[in-house]
Amino acid sequence: MERMQTPQQPCGLPVKARSQRETDLEAGIAFLGKFCAADIKQKKYQFHRSSCPVKLTNPERNGEFFVRKGRSTSGSVRWQCKECKKITNVMPNNVSRLRYNQKKSGLMLELLHKIVRNCSVTEICDTLQINPKTYYHKLKLLAGQLEQMKDQAEREHFPELIQTELSLDCRLQIREVQNRRSALVISVDPATGYVYRADYRGSMKDTREFWNQILPAHFYLIRNQTGAGRVRMVPGSDQEGILRALERTAWSFRTGEKDTAGETLSACLAPRLESAADKYIPYYLGIYMYVYNFAPEFLGGAAMDGPSPGTLYGFGNRDLQCKLEEA
Ligand SMILES: [Zn+2]
Repeated sequence: MERMQTPQQPCGLPVKARSQRETDLEAGIAFLGKFCAADIKQKKYQFHRSSCPVKLTNPERNGEFFVRKGRSTSGSVRWQCKECKKITNVMPNNVSRLRYNQKKSGLMLELLHKIVRNCSVTEICDTLQINPKTYYHKLKLLAGQLEQMKDQAEREHFPELIQTELSLDCRLQIREVQNRRSALVISVDPATGYVYRADYRGSMKDTREFWNQILPAHFYLIRNQTGAGRVRMVPGSDQEGILRALERTAWSFRTGEKDTAGETLSACLAPRLESAADKYIPYYLGIYMYVYNFAPEFLGGAAMDGPSPGTLYGFGNRDLQCKLEEA
């Protein structure tokens, strides 16, 4: 087991002028954000005319100001403001959209089972009687929904669980196959085995992009993405403060070939990373990571040794069963 203490710079990032660092970090965040985030971002709606006296209200929070005017065939709901009479078509959120697209009850749950057991796409399509286009569409929906559920679970439970100092086990894996480089990073809480994030960058000419952009963004998002519970160790929550802290703080973390939880997840993922196209890998990472954290029994047998992270945290799994099964 190889373990390195890195007191100053995470993963030996070179010290650079802040403006360049900021640009790199933004690029990295944009790259990592465009996958699952794109599926879960809610559209912003304008529910009122500009002169409306109650224009700060919306149907979700202030239902008393609106009248429901039925539902369209695509599943969107029409809401009318009682004051200004404006009618707005609201697309269902992800959870509902999953339901509308569902032909068979429990399909999503079955899909999830098969994905994390590393069934091939062909095999899954055959068994579930869906075509590959539908498969990839559902893959994205599933990843987006699990991401949302993970965020929610973390927001609810993490403020109590995280100690003042966040310590991470990071597994870095850089592969070179025929001049095609890819990099995977998985960060885990060594105390509980909880996986915070897994990020992947495929098909790079060189790995500079990974070191300068993806890795800093990976750490940045771990600190930031689900709010207060994760950023306690950072003085102040402004971006500049975090950037300074990222550069300077002795952030205890280890890298290794065989850290326990990262190794296990990485082993589960290996067949999928071998076979999937780069552009789908972020979705797979999200799905495997969720299952690893919250429903490890789905992974089945040999992959899991020791206490499962899901049981240590004791949340998430029940939500998963309910939300996917009610479809
Ligand atoms: Zn109005």
